Amino acid sequence: MNDRLFSFAFGVLLACVGCGDAAAVAPSSAASSSSSGGAGGGGAATLAVVEVVLFTHIEDQSPVGELGSAPSKASYLGLRGALIEVATFAKARKLSWVLQPDWKYLEAARLYEDDALKASTNGKNLFVHLRDDLGVAIDPHSHEKGGYNYTDVAHLLELLGVGGSTVIGGHIWDPSLPEFAEWDRFRVPLAGMKFPAALWRGDILIGAGTPNHVNDPLVSGAWRPQDRDHYFDDAPAGNIVAFGAWHDQVAGVEELVALYADGTVKPGQMLTASWNIEPSAIVAKDGPSTIDATVFEPLAALVAKGLVESTDFTSLTQRWQTDFGGQATIYKP
Ligand SMILES: [Zn+2]
Repeated sequence: MNDRLFSFAFGVLLACVGCGDAAAVAPSSAASSSSSGGAGGGGAATLAVVEVVLFTHIEDQSPVGELGSAPSKASYLGLRGALIEVATFAKARKLSWVLQPDWKYLEAARLYEDDALKASTNGKNLFVHLRDDLGVAIDPHSHEKGGYNYTDVAHLLELLGVGGSTVIGGHIWDPSLPEFAEWDRFRVPLAGMKFPAALWRGDILIGAGTPNHVNDPLVSGAWRPQDRDHYFDDAPAGNIVAFGAWHDQVAGVEELVALYADGTVKPGQMLTASWNIEPSAIVAKDGPSTIDATVFEPLAALVAKGLVESTDFTSLTQRWQTDFGGQATIYKP
């Protein structure tokens, strides 16, 4: 029933593995007629709600400079304050927001989160505060540079008291590219490089990317990729789930809402969208309030109408398996 063999051409430079900055890269496809894989499954026949995940990647250049230096600490603190502001806006809108940091910001947290700093966040480090007081989900994100792989990042989250996620927060999906991230290695637990005793198995793929996101796949839905050469084929017995990122942020979500409304996609077929709210936007002047006005407010309006659900990748996986019966949907116009 699937029809999704296709290939893309690509750019080369690696900016952010699977950061899913859809706005910068989305192909401008017509959103009309199309295929959708999968059939509506048990118990899901009436569900026609677009599942949206807002996330933020903190890259391995953040904070700037050498760990322990004054510029590094200033950079850490500047982003720290802005992250808390964004989380506060998201919570006020009753929206979920996901933070996916790479190793450097986490090592910075281990250095800088002392009692004096934690006094400003209910005695908790930044990440525990974001999770426990502001409802932020925290997943690992890794470009696997600087001697840290995904398992190491997951381990750093454990050390900071916010471990447990099995989300692989971004990867290059295309096996023909030199940057291909070999997602299929996550079918078994992997050891860390920096922390060789640490073991971690990721089982949720998000934001299948291309280098610089110049040709990211336009896909919405949930499935279990069959193998590296058949990424967009569902293998029901597969032990790794993937979610399509779709494109165009809030406007893209409205496109998906319309697909249910006009019957292109049937209730029970889960449609998904997710994108990266970049740190550069967060630390910009009036960044958090601008994000609130341009992203959170319109998204919350769609949620209020019952057309959209705001979630995180772990909760989404559970919902797909229970409420959608684990039925694959691979919507690729
Ligand atoms: Zn990245």
